[in-house]
Amino acid sequence: MKLKFWGVRGSINSPLSPDQYRNKLRNVLNLSTGKDLEDLGSIERFIDDLPLSLSTTYGGNTSCVTVNDEENLIILDAGTGIRNLGNELLSGKFFNSRIREYNLFFSHLHLDHINGLPFFAPVHFKDIKLNFYAHHNEFEKYLSLQQNFNFFPVSLESRPCKKKFAELNDDDVITVGNFSVFSKPLNHPNGSYSYKIVDRSGRKIVYATDGEYTAKTIVSEFFDFFRGADILIFDSQYNFNELAQRYNYGHSTAEIGVDAAVNSGVKKLILFHHNHENDDDKISALYFSAIKYKEAKYPSYDLAVVIANEGMEISL
Ligand SMILES: [Zn+2]
Ligand SMILES: [Zn+2]
Repeated sequence: MKLKFWGVRGSINSPLSPDQYRNKLRNVLNLSTGKDLEDLGSIERFIDDLPLSLSTTYGGNTSCVTVNDEENLIILDAGTGIRNLGNELLSGKFFNSRIREYNLFFSHLHLDHINGLPFFAPVHFKDIKLNFYAHHNEFEKYLSLQQNFNFFPVSLESRPCKKKFAELNDDDVITVGNFSVFSKPLNHPNGSYSYKIVDRSGRKIVYATDGEYTAKTIVSEFFDFFRGADILIFDSQYNFNELAQRYNYGHSTAEIGVDAAVNSGVKKLILFHHNHENDDDKISALYFSAIKYKEAKYPSYDLAVVIANEGMEISL
């Protein structure tokens, strides 16, 4: 079972700005004084030792995550990260190129979760089959609307790939080869859905993005659904102050993720759906505050807290 992140941002694409790039460069050069940078190996080691916010960027693309084994590919959301996924599928760099059927589950239809679809190149091939799943009524119509001629030059229905659209009910369990996919509604404007993917050995990945846990929906209602997950991918868009100011926006914090993970027996928590307003330094700060919170509140609980970045891969 493999997990890969193709887009980790919330709300809208947020590429590095020229100023942000220059600041990174300045900070890296400052830290390089007196370091051994004689050959490529020592340069790589120097980069590896940099703080995360300098050695990399968390990435600017919106939500897209894959879960796969040798034979089956599940795609969670079609934010702009799906464009690179499509290119790597076609080039054979990612996934078994003999398998031409992919399964795309939408958490919901907000733009940051669908607007990479027009740029997902596999739609242009007639030997490829795409199975679309979502809980939202008439979602085929809304995906189609996004590619109405007023908005985009090429319609979804005109694309030669084979397409199947399945509207899901809350209790449905979808079988994709060795995987079973369960779902649970989240508190989000017009609704969002979390997905739990379980393989035949019982390994579990939960994808829970775009969810708010406040008075209306308390986080303990989700403990059973998250229970025992190897990985919980969690909406960590805000810090506490921002959450207080953005009641009913439908998002959460890393600390609520820590509480949920510990109380549900989760092994690894992955912070996801980073705020488009935050640069890499702010995202790092949010990550370190989550680690501090975990150490202070649950010192003896063995929970790995990880921050999602574009391109991150995990095998389990
Ligand atoms: Zn979103
Ligand atoms: Zn949303």
